[in-house]
Amino acid sequence: MMSYVVFARKYRPQTFNDVVAQEHVTRTLRNAVVNNRIASGYLFCGPRGTGKTTVARILAKALNCANGPTENPCGVCSQCNEIAAGTSMDVLEIDAASNTGVDDIRTLRENIRYLPAGGKKRIYIIDEVHRLSGSAFDALLTTLEEPPPHVLFVFATTEPLKVPETILSRTQRFDFRRVSVEELAKHLRHIATDEKIEITDAALYLLARKADGSVRDSLSLMDQIVAFSGETIDEPQVVQALGLIDREFLFGFVDALAAADRKQALRLTGKVIENGIDVGDFAEELLEHLRILMILQSDPEASGALSLTPTEMQEYLKQAEFFQVGDILRLMNMIVDLNNGLKSGLDERLLVEVTAVKMASMESTVRLSDLLDKLNSGAPLPVVSSPAPPQSAASSKPPELFTPPSVKRAAPSPAKPPSAAANPQPSIQPQQTWPNKPMNLPQVQAGWEGFLTNFRQNYPMLASQLRMAELSAVKDNQITLMFFSAGEASRQLAQKPENSQTITNALRDYYRANVTVRFEIDMTREYPAGFADQSAGQKVDPAKLVENSPRLKDLLTKVDGEIIGIKKVEQ
Ligand SMILES: [Zn+2]
Repeated sequence: MMSYVVFARKYRPQTFNDVVAQEHVTRTLRNAVVNNRIASGYLFCGPRGTGKTTVARILAKALNCANGPTENPCGVCSQCNEIAAGTSMDVLEIDAASNTGVDDIRTLRENIRYLPAGGKKRIYIIDEVHRLSGSAFDALLTTLEEPPPHVLFVFATTEPLKVPETILSRTQRFDFRRVSVEELAKHLRHIATDEKIEITDAALYLLARKADGSVRDSLSLMDQIVAFSGETIDEPQVVQALGLIDREFLFGFVDALAAADRKQALRLTGKVIENGIDVGDFAEELLEHLRILMILQSDPEASGALSLTPTEMQEYLKQAEFFQVGDILRLMNMIVDLNNGLKSGLDERLLVEVTAVKMASMESTVRLSDLLDKLNSGAPLPVVSSPAPPQSAASSKPPELFTPPSVKRAAPSPAKPPSAAANPQPSIQPQQTWPNKPMNLPQVQAGWEGFLTNFRQNYPMLASQLRMAELSAVKDNQITLMFFSAGEASRQLAQKPENSQTITNALRDYYRANVTVRFEIDMTREYPAGFADQSAGQKVDPAKLVENSPRLKDLLTKVDGEIIGIKKVEQ
């Protein structure tokens, strides 16, 4: 078998061009080399694995190469080779992290006045310079005061705040930045092609995300995975090789929360414990999952920054529909509490179970509003074929009521559920046509409160969305409802095809005219104070609601549920 060189070493950049994602640094350094304007000291700051010591070595080669100073060191002369191998007499690397360096610095001070052995400069690369001891610093400073012209210092640190002012003031500082997931993925793809490794995009992105901005870490992870699964790699293999938690598992867990399925949430936490997954890791992954949902809920435009593949994005978007931002924040807080509990040394299993039950209990109210919407929009209820025992309602598979609305509602059935026949005042009459009576804004305005009050009786949830909009125009019998800047979620809900149809039908029914409706949003306007207060004032009595809605009564019987609260849907 051929000797195996780890990727991080094999693919260590040898020229400025090879360095990943630090162009702002390499460009300036190349110019300095070309124009012979090298400072006597540089400070490279930045997270681990972003290329600080690598760039320091490339700079050393650029200066000491037989063809140098050159921005393109040859890589074959003895100087280039020795520097790459770490054996050059003129390039001394000191790791301040591994020893506090007093002796090294003394040696440095003693031999600093000698001219370089073979190259043009003596280059001192001091890594993690903030870790040097006080006495080592003092020793270093005297040499820094007036360094001989043939000496160049390159300091590297992950913690620039801990670097003393005396060093900061004598060096030119460069900040290396964390490498983005896209850049890492691109780099890894390049190496995979080179190595004839087949790896899926999902696996590659997962790997890149786990490397947390470090090229070196991303390559070590790739080593681990190739060692684990050979040269064909997909996402589950990355998950297994790195001991991560499967994304599907997290989706399943959060689905259970959305469905308020405590039993399932507990089962899944049981799996975490049984499989020996660290509860802290689980908490971290879950937090990251919720963070993505939160961002998608708050600012869909920012989704590009999440570095997800299109398929992943679809899955998250689907799940995000179940939650309001406030709910996600509450869930995230519970995880923070869990983490604090873990730190205090309480029993892992107990903590994670309590948290799971708390989380699954929290969502009931939101889910009910979703249920009501569905119920009132006329979508068919799930059919329970036989009088089932109560526990089947809480079976491990979430009932289909809780499948994402975008899927369930894609093909709304025009037929009403049989139980609706019992409703004395059915108001959806899709087949009925109304005269083309011309309507204008004042006419619609005059009846608007009446319409909303009426509409509210049959569609309380949709009505509360409409309360968030202002009647802004009527043109060619098209009624325009304008939402305010914070009302995007309400608008989206209202304009879902089946909801929009429901609203249109109700409008036609109420105004007895063939009107249409469109929903717009004015991002420049905030909600005026007190807007939609009228609806907030009207308290809904759960008992009355059930009494007045045979379908809700039917539903509660079928799922063996009870109303534990009513929540106004607003964003
Ligand atoms: Zn060379």
